[in-house]
Amino acid sequence: MKLIIVTGGVISSLGKGIASTSIGLLLKQRGLNVTIQKLDPYINVDPGTMSPFQHGEVFVTEDGAETDLDLGHYERFIDTDLTRRHSVSTGQIYQAVIDRERRGGYLGKTVQVIPHITDEIKSRIRELGETDDPPDVVIAEIGGTTGDIESQPFLEATRQLRLEVGAENCLFIHLTLIPYIRAAKELKTKPTQNSVRQLREIGIQPDILLCRTEVPLNRDIRQKLALFCNVREEAVIEARDVASIYQVPIQFHKERLDDIIVRLLALDVPEPDLTEWQLLLKRMNDAEDEVAIAVCGKYTHLRDAYKSIIEAFTHAGIHNDVKVNIEWIDAEDIENHGAERYLKDVSGVLVPGGFGERGIQGKLEAVRYARENKTPFLGICLGLQSAVIEFAKNVCEIADAASSEFDVNCLNPVIDLMKDQTHDGDKGGTMRLGAYPCQIKPGSLAEAVYGCDAVAERHRHRWEVNNKYRPTFEKHGLVISGTSPDGRLVEIIELSDHPYFIAVQFHPELKSRPNRPHPLFKALVKAAKLQAAESTLDVRRTINT
Ligand code: GLN
Repeated sequence: MKLIIVTGGVISSLGKGIASTSIGLLLKQRGLNVTIQKLDPYINVDPGTMSPFQHGEVFVTEDGAETDLDLGHYERFIDTDLTRRHSVSTGQIYQAVIDRERRGGYLGKTVQVIPHITDEIKSRIRELGETDDPPDVVIAEIGGTTGDIESQPFLEATRQLRLEVGAENCLFIHLTLIPYIRAAKELKTKPTQNSVRQLREIGIQPDILLCRTEVPLNRDIRQKLALFCNVREEAVIEARDVASIYQVPIQFHKERLDDIIVRLLALDVPEPDLTEWQLLLKRMNDAEDEVAIAVCGKYTHLRDAYKSIIEAFTHAGIHNDVKVNIEWIDAEDIENHGAERYLKDVSGVLVPGGFGERGIQGKLEAVRYARENKTPFLGICLGLQSAVIEFAKNVCEIADAASSEFDVNCLNPVIDLMKDQTHDGDKGGTMRLGAYPCQIKPGSLAEAVYGCDAVAERHRHRWEVNNKYRPTFEKHGLVISGTSPDGRLVEIIELSDHPYFIAVQFHPELKSRPNRPHPLFKALVKAAKLQAAESTLDVRRTINT
């Protein structure tokens, strides 16, 4: 098993996740079995308890781990389902070490960062090789920036690991920033020199520098970086700003990054086959038509909170040959100014997941607008719950219908906790998490969209549709088109007298991939495209044409 450790320098937000996963894609397309792991230095056990304002989206894996949004990029680029083991945090490491200490596992020793914490980190990385289908290459991305106190144990652990497995089996790639000073018309190498020096002080010599830059790196700059950072000139890789994250692997390949990696790791593999990726990019760039789709949520000024939704729209756009323009609508603005003003010019509406009461009235108004004006609609998780509340209030005339998440004393909790759900106050990892099977009703819109009658989708929520109200809903025309196989949990709802109105209790955006757009996003974009063209074609019949 070969190891590639990716670190970041100078500042955060340079795109370490995209860089790591682009390397993953290039190696995979060279025929290697690749996997990627994120090592996050924060003390939370996982990002599940962090606010989206703090951390952006929580990406949920098939096995129900709440992970960093970079795992979403990994899955989308290398087109592989990852697991709990691919997302490690300081919190998990310490929890494991402390649990072992309490059980007497350290036989009376003093438990210390070196070697106990670092041993635990190393074992998490090595563990990825212990599967039936062991990877040829493990890419481990260390979160944070060199110099952070928190990331020191991870850097130390990987330094040790390189010594243990040998330099020919372990590469260090450092992503850094080469700022361009406009007034002087000059690129500056000093911040990179300093961050590499910090790495070298702790015994890590990067093999490759990935240099984020606005302008091309000339030969002089490359030579200077090579000399001062002690890397070969060919290992100074320009990572110029590009229009789309999906161009990054192509750009890295042009810079011969994958060539250097396979050479340094002594991997005898062919050139990468990037045909499919190039075709997707071409389709994306060639799309001339545009559709506007509104996303009405609570975290709309913070795009990271909706990362997978943005990407799922990109994929759906590629496969519909349109560019999807997302109109970000703060649900509270709808509360203040009405839905019409924000939704009258869009061809589709999406109400995404969320927590807490703020903005709920605005979401209900957005649902009502889409329902009454026959605007294509997709509700996700809290979006489904909003659609159910809106339907209960305005169609079934249950005026005080609500979710007990927002109103514990509500007399008509159409969204409620199930009887057997316990609340022991522990907030971490206690929701319905990960992939669950869903049975689809024959003849429904959901069946037309998916083209099959059983799917598995990823969940992250506590509340469910209250079964007590199902007969009332159905009597008024709401179709329950997807349930858990035992029929107890409502997973998909739709309206039969609407061109495209569907809502799901799970998060379809988590399973969308550039080569395999999620059917619900693909269909929403298709419906929006038909709406924009004022076509009378039925989405159900044309969805897969
Ligand atoms: N807050 C709701 C619940 O817990 C919805 C969660 C979500 O949208 N992810 O059920």
